[in-house]
Amino acid sequence: MPQQTHVIVGASLAGASAAAALRKRGFDGRIVLIGDEPHLPYERPELSKKYLRGEVETPVIVHDEAFYADSAIELLRGRRVTGLDLDARRVIIDAETIRFDRLLVGTGASPRPLGVPGEDLPGVHRLRTLEDADAIREAAARASGAVVVGGGWIGSEVAASLRQLGLDVAVVSLTPTPLEHVLGAEIGAIYRETHEGHGVRFVTGSRVRRILGTDRATGVETDDGRRIEADLVIVGVGADPRTDLAVAAGLEVRNGIVVGANLETGAPGVFAAGDVANAWHPFYRRHLRVEHWDNAKRQGRAAAASMLGEPTSYDRIPYFYSDQYELGMEYTGHALHWDEVVIRGDREARELIAFWLSGGRVVAGMNMNVWDVAPAIERLVRSRSAIDRDRLADPDAPLEALAPAA
Ligand SMILES: Cc1cc2nc3c(=O)[nH]c(=O)nc-3n(C[C@H](O)[C@H](O)[C@H](O)COP(=O)(O)OP(=O)(O)OC[C@H]3O[C@@H](n4cnc5c(N)ncnc54)[C@H](O)[C@@H]3O)c2cc1C
Repeated sequence: MPQQTHVIVGASLAGASAAAALRKRGFDGRIVLIGDEPHLPYERPELSKKYLRGEVETPVIVHDEAFYADSAIELLRGRRVTGLDLDARRVIIDAETIRFDRLLVGTGASPRPLGVPGEDLPGVHRLRTLEDADAIREAAARASGAVVVGGGWIGSEVAASLRQLGLDVAVVSLTPTPLEHVLGAEIGAIYRETHEGHGVRFVTGSRVRRILGTDRATGVETDDGRRIEADLVIVGVGADPRTDLAVAAGLEVRNGIVVGANLETGAPGVFAAGDVANAWHPFYRRHLRVEHWDNAKRQGRAAAASMLGEPTSYDRIPYFYSDQYELGMEYTGHALHWDEVVIRGDREARELIAFWLSGGRVVAGMNMNVWDVAPAIERLVRSRSAIDRDRLADPDAPLEALAPAA
């Protein structure tokens, strides 16, 4: 039988994890991993944390260079895939094509534009890549003040890091508390208080209508006329899945590339994973697109198994983490709506577990400065069992006792 070729487009966490998993699972054909960034596949989380603050000088890489050579993974760096010909089963890179037997699309996401005048001025930054982080680091070294547009994860982490670097920082957000769209106002308030305790100012309840400045950004103006002056503007208003290739190839795209629980698209032999994939989730019985590190890594590996024809049903409960100042947290679950938030622990000391309850059941949990409980929270979510809220709030009631084995 001729040698098979599996091609992966997007050489980041999902793609590199998939390539490694293909080999680990015994695939002995050709693996081609193609990415448009010039670097070895690296992990992004430290770009808004230690790397941005200059506490580490190199990004975390997924595998070292020797790994790709030793595993006979052909890593094409700095090469942009310009088209997918699914009928001819070929990936197009400008004038070159590569034939594939199985294809994985792991093209990730890119920062959402703000869509206001002045957005392209020098001094306006977004954060997705190593180059973005380097540019912010360099600008921060010369700046005294920054305004961060957006109170989501990236905005909050960047605000914390820039404040730790000694800049005056203002955060402009629609909601009164940061991270409110995921955590709600009650837990968002802990983050706001912590940021304010470190000297960050919040300008909430209004949108940015333009970036100020003529030759370079000098701040922002909100739609209620407030002007916030700054040397540096960071826009962190979310990310959009990079679906241009998939759309042009005729794959189904709806908030990302639509795939089944086996991570395969409607086109046989074509898969998607990571930030770009909107995958059917058997536990939630709906499609879910997850933009987090853990998902990219695990979904990449699961996609590899599926590409090799192994029965695969990716049903990991979403998990992510964030570090801001002295607050470390992990969040497990997926809560769009909830009836109440139950807190176990010490809110003032910022050592707690918060549980989001819907219909008397735990739909998500967040441990803040409390560790080694994420698996128990996952079991609670997965169990879907009715919960005694008093015991849930009681730090002396072992979580394991409340979380039956799935
Ligand atoms: C600053 C920052 C901080 C983060 N912090 C956290 C955190 O604390 N916790 C957490 O859980 N998650 C965090 N994340 C999210 C996490 O990094 C992402 O979920 C993860 O990177 C997704 O990996 P991916 O491989 O799916 O996509 P990506 O990392 O986006 O990689 C996709 C790759 O495909 C390439 N590509 C796209 N189109 C083409 C093409 N046509 N040809 C060739 N290559 C192409 C892109 O350039 C990119 O290299 C953070 C993200 C950022 C940006």
